[in-house]
Amino acid sequence: MKFYILGAGAMGCLYGAGIRQAGYDVTLIDVDPFHMRAINKKGLSVQFGEAEDIVRIEAHRAANCTEPADYMIVFTKSIYSEEALESVKHLITPDTTLVSFQNGLGHEEVLGRYADPDHVIVGTTSFACDLLGYGRIRAGGFGVTNMMTASGNVTPAAQTLADVFTQAGLNPTVTDQVFRAIWEKVAFNAAANTLTAITVLPFGRVGEVPEGKDLAHQIVREVIGVANAKGVPADCDRVLNMVDTLMVEHFDHYPSMLQDVLKERETEVGFINGAVVREAEKLGMRVPVTETLYKLMCVYQKTYEYRVKE
Ligand code: NAD
Repeated sequence: MKFYILGAGAMGCLYGAGIRQAGYDVTLIDVDPFHMRAINKKGLSVQFGEAEDIVRIEAHRAANCTEPADYMIVFTKSIYSEEALESVKHLITPDTTLVSFQNGLGHEEVLGRYADPDHVIVGTTSFACDLLGYGRIRAGGFGVTNMMTASGNVTPAAQTLADVFTQAGLNPTVTDQVFRAIWEKVAFNAAANTLTAITVLPFGRVGEVPEGKDLAHQIVREVIGVANAKGVPADCDRVLNMVDTLMVEHFDHYPSMLQDVLKERETEVGFINGAVVREAEKLGMRVPVTETLYKLMCVYQKTYEYRVKE
């Protein structure tokens, strides 16, 4: 069974390392030559608390891979999925299953351009991971993986992936509630990511200001309202509770969108707030706070070179 991880950053390396340590044949695919060279030369360093594992795993450019994929797990930032999938078309056969646990909405549509719905698996991960440097990651702790095919059929390939993930310690659940999990995560990210990125503050600091917390709650209510209008039974109270808890328990949390703006990179806001705005428009709904934050983030990430420094 051949696994590829497409996009070997923090999360791609975490999932790749787990699958490799469970004894499977997995290759990392990336575009960063320094990162890949470090992994191939010294092994992938996986830190967890005080412990460090060196995982022997190969990392290559897409063009240098030849063996057809049984599973292609996409872990680029959402904005690069299409370009990355184009680069691995030669590895995708009618039997390949494409998988995404990326943040945001619409991954089943992007992956669905390359495989039929029985061969597309989408879901969420609550694992967290940071890239410490070339060939080095730090795992965040306990997490779970929720997943289902885009068709809603529990296929043999989905069951096999869940078995492999169990052996890899990735705590999988194959669930028909996957879109509920995806929308609840999007609601959380639409609030936490944009508010921290726009204010350049950790999430706890945003929550200390009553107006910041109020904005976060308004975004969650808007996003869950759209999910519910689409027939997805996402739970508003659960996400509001998650927002409040994380503002306290992970006071210093720097969501990825904040990390991206600090490095003056394009963010995933188009797949998070932007996607919610588009879904709301289809339903004739307004999501004014989510839309305003989306448009502010668009201004922010398109104007890095003009930012006033003093
Ligand atoms: P990352 O930036 O660390 O890694 C992305 C990798 O993709 C990079 O190594 C980059 O070089 C590579 N890449 C870019 N374009 C490529 C291409 N065309 N072909 C192959 N590789 C390419 O990102 P991450 O933090 O691992 O996040 C990946 C996804 O997982 C995102 O959707 C993110 O929102 C989601 N996520 C992240 C976390 C986390 O804790 N980091 C947690 C949950 C979900």
